[in-house]
Amino acid sequence: MSNPLRIAVVAGNGIGPEITAATQRVLEATGLAFDWVPVLVGDEAVAEHGHPLPQLSVRQLQEIGLALKGPLIVEKLKGRVICTHADGSEHVYPSLNNALRRELQLFVNPRPLRGMGALSGKWAELDIVIMREVTEDVYAGLERMVDADRAEAIKLTTRAAVRRVARYSFEFARKNGRRRVTCAHKANVLGLTDGMFLECCREVAAEFPEIAFDDCMIDAAAYALVKTPQRFDVIVTSNQYGDILSDLGAGLVGSLGLAPGANIGEAGAMFEASHGAAPDIAGKGIANPIALILSGALLLRHAGALAEAERVEAAVRSVVIERKILTPDLGGQASTEALTAAICARIKGASA
Ligand code: NAD
Repeated sequence: MSNPLRIAVVAGNGIGPEITAATQRVLEATGLAFDWVPVLVGDEAVAEHGHPLPQLSVRQLQEIGLALKGPLIVEKLKGRVICTHADGSEHVYPSLNNALRRELQLFVNPRPLRGMGALSGKWAELDIVIMREVTEDVYAGLERMVDADRAEAIKLTTRAAVRRVARYSFEFARKNGRRRVTCAHKANVLGLTDGMFLECCREVAAEFPEIAFDDCMIDAAAYALVKTPQRFDVIVTSNQYGDILSDLGAGLVGSLGLAPGANIGEAGAMFEASHGAAPDIAGKGIANPIALILSGALLLRHAGALAEAERVEAAVRSVVIERKILTPDLGGQASTEALTAAICARIKGASA
């Protein structure tokens, strides 16, 4: 790669700026050149432009097409964001993260769950990817008060969106040598919405005869993830179920601090950890940067820098499996800085 790789950077809140800086440092340790473009979203954007997601930031992110994103704090009960487009139309989103994904037309949030040696206990060899649909479901923001004592939310499900996420999941399986796609749903209770989700996944599965397909009720899937997670390979599911299952899976492999993620669309992609802004440890210098660093490796892979992505992943694995330099969430006492330095040193071939 001769030209610098242009990447939009949304630093985020809480531990966001700490782990974003750590990730930039690790990606630079591969020797690739980067052109980092800071983009204002959240509090910084409110201070500068009076809106948490100004259209200027949306346009910058669209134009650059690749983004590294730290977690954003979304205040409980007041997360709603309204974006006004150039044609005057208003788009209401239930949270800033949801607004960002949907304004950028990102439709799937792949969340890999990979065991990391002894830290992952019984699940050292686990290797699953949860494919979470991120444009619909109860997170579509279609929520209202019926009267003072009753509230309702619509569980939006469309064939087009389900087919798109299902096709992405099967294509991912085909490209990455994965053998099975499992649809997690609750079609026995939600016959129309989850019923449609399952039906569309079945339809798409028929186009990929070499990939096994099965389905699992979401409650049974949660149980199986804890008891026999190795039965899964790729799990495709709707927005809310995917959100919950992926945190459960992160607990299984050892920490939310190890769980990377991506948001992929037809024309762009944004890479972020599965976890949130961890305000309880922000500013203490002890946040685990690994989930975002591994998200950075996914970004490199997406950009075609496969060798560099593998070097980052291998360095992370070797430092974590050695268990000498770990942040407190992984049972160690190291700082974000020390863990980042160890990963950079491993990438550069020196011993930390
Ligand atoms: P959280 O993921 O931020 O934290 C849950 C627990 O895990 C905390 O104890 C935290 O200290 C720990 N943790 C998380 N990431 C860690 C890391 N990298 N290293 C060490 N420990 C880590 O979840 P929460 O507390 O429910 O949410 C906090 C804020 O983050 C909320 O405002 C929420 O809306 C936001 N959030 C943002 C995103 C996102 O931007 N994608 C996702 C989830 C939550």
